[in-house]
Formats: sequence, C-alpha cells, structure tokens
Amino acid sequence: MTLDEAKQLDATDPLAFACERFSLPDGVIYLDGNSLGALPAVTAARLREAVEQQWGADLIASWNAHGWIDWPTRIAAKLAPLVGAKPSELLIADSTSVCLFKLLAAAVRARPGRTTILTQQQNFPTDLYVAQGLADMLGMKLKAVPADEVMGAIDEDTAVVTLTHVDYRSAAIHDMAAVNAAAHAAGALTVWDLSHSAGAIELDLDGTGCDLAVGCGYKYLNGGPGAPAFVYVAERLQDELQPPLQGWFGHAEPFDFDDDYRPVSGIRRFLTGTPSILALAALDCGLDTFDGVAMRDVAAKARGLSQTFIAEVEARCGGEVRLASPRDPASRASHVVFAHAQGYAVMQALIARGVIGDFRAPDLMRFGFTPLYTRFADVVRAAEILGEILATRAWDRPEFRERKAVT
Ligand SMILES: *Cc1c(COP(=O)(O)O)cnc(C)c1O
Repeated sequence: MTLDEAKQLDATDPLAFACERFSLPDGVIYLDGNSLGALPAVTAARLREAVEQQWGADLIASWNAHGWIDWPTRIAAKLAPLVGAKPSELLIADSTSVCLFKLLAAAVRARPGRTTILTQQQNFPTDLYVAQGLADMLGMKLKAVPADEVMGAIDEDTAVVTLTHVDYRSAAIHDMAAVNAAAHAAGALTVWDLSHSAGAIELDLDGTGCDLAVGCGYKYLNGGPGAPAFVYVAERLQDELQPPLQGWFGHAEPFDFDDDYRPVSGIRRFLTGTPSILALAALDCGLDTFDGVAMRDVAAKARGLSQTFIAEVEARCGGEVRLASPRDPASRASHVVFAHAQGYAVMQALIARGVIGDFRAPDLMRFGFTPLYTRFADVVRAAEILGEILATRAWDRPEFRERKAVT
C-alpha cells in the first residue's frame, strides 16, 4: 500500500472524527496506546475544573454537590457498551492488580473445599504473582498450564480459572464463552483480565457467561498514567460473593459508622476505601473518547490497521523479522508483535525516528493500534521507517542497546 492509498482509507474511515478527541504531539506515530493511552483533548481542562472549582472552591461539599460519592459507579457505567455488561455490573476501583486479588479471593471463598487456582503459563506477571500470593496465603495451589491446555485442566478441584483474555505479548485471544462453559460445567468460577481487550475489541461479558473480570484504565481506555482499574461482577453473583477487603466504602451504611461490617448489596461492595477522585476525573475523560463509537467499528478498524501493518512490514523486512502474533486476524486483538534478535535496539531506533512502540523480553517489538487515533497513513509510514532502520542497520549503536528501567 502506498502512503496515498493509506490516506484514501483514512479519508473514508468512519472513526476519523475520533482522532480530534486526542492531543498528540506533531511528528510522532504513537503505536503504544495499548500500554498508555494517549491524552484526550479535554482532560487538562476538566482536571483543572475538578481541582480548582470542585476541590478548591467547593471543598468537602463536593462529595454531595458534585456527586463524587457516586463516581466509581457513574463512570464505570460508561464501560457497559464497550464490554457487553449492564451498568450495574461495573465499578471503578484501585489498580488492576489489587482488583484481581479482590475478585480471586472472593471467588475461591465461594468455592470452599476446592484447592486449585488454574491459570496459564506466561500469563501477565502481575496476574501470576497475585494468584501465587493468594494461593500461598490460603494453602491452595496455583496450577499454570500452557494456554491451549487450560480447558482440559479444569476439574472438580478447580475453584477458579483466571486468564488474561488477550495475551499481552502475542495478542492471541482466548475463547471466553468456551472457557466459561467448561469452568461452569466443573462448578468453577472464572476471573478474566481484560487489560488488552476492553476498548480494543468487541466483548460480550454477559452473553458469554462471564462471572468476574478486571481491566486496566490507562491502556485502551485512555485514563492516564496509573488510572484506576475496573471490576465486573455478574449480577447473579453480586450478593453471593463476600468482598475480601472489607472497607468502609463497601459497607451498606458507611456514614452510620457501625462497628460491624455489613456489605452493601450490589457491585459497590467491591469498593474498599475512598476513591481517588482526580484519577477518576481523568478516567471519565478517557471513557468519553468512546462516546458515540460502536465497538464493531473499532474492532473492524483494528483488524484493518494490523493487517496492513503486517503486510507492509513483511513486504519490506521479510527475512529479518518474524511475526510472533497469530496470523489469522480473527484470533488476534489490537496489537502485533514481531520478533527480532536485536528487538530492543531496533525499537529504540524507531523511537528516535518518532515511531513509538515498546519492547517485551526476550525479543519482541510490540506495536499497538488504537483505532480511535491511529491512522492507516501512520501504519504505512511506521512500516517504511522500520524497513529503513533494518536495511541500514541504524539500530546498531551503543546508545540503542542500553536498557532503560521501563521497556
Ligand atoms: C497492564 C496490565 C496490568 C496492569 O496492572 P496494574 O495493577 O495496573 O499495574 C495487569 N494485567 C494485565 C494483563 C495487563 O496487561
């Protein structure tokens, strides 16, 4: 595809309007929205309002006057059409790691007598660490099997199956409906991590029979660095599950100041402490970037962008890089990885040329496509620049080999 052909596609893109909703620096092709979503154009002004008017002028009255107390559910409700859930099944809270701990602990408590937490090898590290810690604490065992053996490993001893829906390295997608059905047939619960799914591809949490899920606020949801996470609890389970971190914000009457804990009915029992209001204000802006956007269009454009990128990279750099994501677009979410023995240095050379992706050990160059603001022209240009860097060995310089703290 030529750059002109790509620009033609951009001109007829049904999501072209959404690009204006972001503030991106000139001269940068940003292919890392799967790690840190771009800054929405309205965030700075709305944070200023939250700080100066709400916090500054209205002070503590803002909990009522500006409805701060309801923000964790009000803002979460905006996720409902993105993930295929009811608004009342969603909550914004804590971080993904903490939310995962809370839901896994609630799930295993609801399956007494079963001693296994089942997951896949090479799951995202925090997911493995959280599950290991919980298993150790409760005298359970964490069983991690290869991704394609998870379904066969579910048995009568499995309390909970926990998986990242979209693999953070390869973008391979688990069959959510099939895993839920297999888990339920054995009497187990499921906890999904949607960090690389929510806002990237179509999801139907209710329709596929999900029990519990968590996801990240700062990737495709554009909530800003360290944005709070979200929690999904299917309605049928909400009052059955006991929140493991019993904080006052999950109490039925927090302002009665009772000595005894009594969880509120519904999703709010998964709140623990005072929500981070400024962070919620930023996440609210991030979710507003999806206003009027159909996830079907997002998913279709994600496929188009990633297919174009794969074709253009392979045409230019064929022998030098190896596609390490599924080739079938139906099996892949919204990012693509290519392996190269000097992947870290090549990525640093790309960043120096204004093409921002990231690197995942041992040798993966990861490129994220965020259909709200990535254009076909960006993708073609990025492939051209990668081709030039490989052809000229521009990556082969000491400063590009030096590992930084964050890759
Ligand atoms: C990004 C990511 C997280 C992030 O967890 P934090 O607690 O927000 O640091 C968790 N799980 C997966 C699969 C991720 O991709």
